[in-house]
Amino acid sequence: MTAISSARVASSSYAATSSPVLRQGATGSAVTQLQNKLRAAGHAISADGVFGPQTRAAVVAFQRAKGLSVDGIVGPQTWGALNQVGTGPVLRQGATGASVVDLQNKLRAAGLNIAADGIFGPQTRNAVIAFQRAKGLTVDGVVGPQTWGALGGVSGNPGGGTVLGYVNGQPRQITVSSIGGNHVMRSDAAAAFNNLKAAAAAAGINLHVNSAFRTQAEQAELYRLYLAGQGNLAAKPGYSNHQGGLSVDINMPGSYSGATYRWLQANARRFGFVNDVGGEPWHWTFQG
Ligand SMILES: [Zn+2]
Repeated sequence: MTAISSARVASSSYAATSSPVLRQGATGSAVTQLQNKLRAAGHAISADGVFGPQTRAAVVAFQRAKGLSVDGIVGPQTWGALNQVGTGPVLRQGATGASVVDLQNKLRAAGLNIAADGIFGPQTRNAVIAFQRAKGLTVDGVVGPQTWGALGGVSGNPGGGTVLGYVNGQPRQITVSSIGGNHVMRSDAAAAFNNLKAAAAAAGINLHVNSAFRTQAEQAELYRLYLAGQGNLAAKPGYSNHQGGLSVDINMPGSYSGATYRWLQANARRFGFVNDVGGEPWHWTFQG
């Protein structure tokens, strides 16, 4: 099961970049991810992003404990075993409790807009399905080791971490941060938006976000609705600035003549944001 699910996960572009083969001498965010998983498995090492002798010793101990080939090299088999560490039980619709909250927080960090209410209802199931589809996993709405493993590449912090975005049709790992609610944006855009939001609040304008970063699955669904005549204009999946974490849709009472639009029109540019789609007063993009 472990080797099979790892091989499937490794076939997606997301996991191929987030779970590379690692050995002593490696550095970077994948090593930090490895170290965090080893720590979760009970190995007291520092998560410094450097695969040195200490990390190798922990990998060897982990492999021995799990009955894996003991070589100190982290390949698909070892990633697969690590991805099952500290993850929750198999979850499906109807489940409730803390492990469901953990799941929902990870789905939120992956950019899916759901509530972390601890209840695995239809909304959570749809988010799991969208996540599985986006990651090239078996699409069944059930969260087993494979899905937990793919979610493990995402920070459990609500609204933070690394997500799979798209820029001009190309998949791209994007570091995102929270802008409140269940929404995230690319971290530099999020910092600018949070400043914009604070300035608006000081002026008596409440910026309510309806949509920010979107996964490929979310954009595909919006595009499907648009083509069916059931939704707003939506860019082709892979080509929306929402997928690069740069655009935010803001609730816009009164449209172009409301106080919110007028305040943004006068102030958003100094925070790096412009209203760059005609006919969509709600859509603002960070241009730096
Ligand atoms: Zn938009």
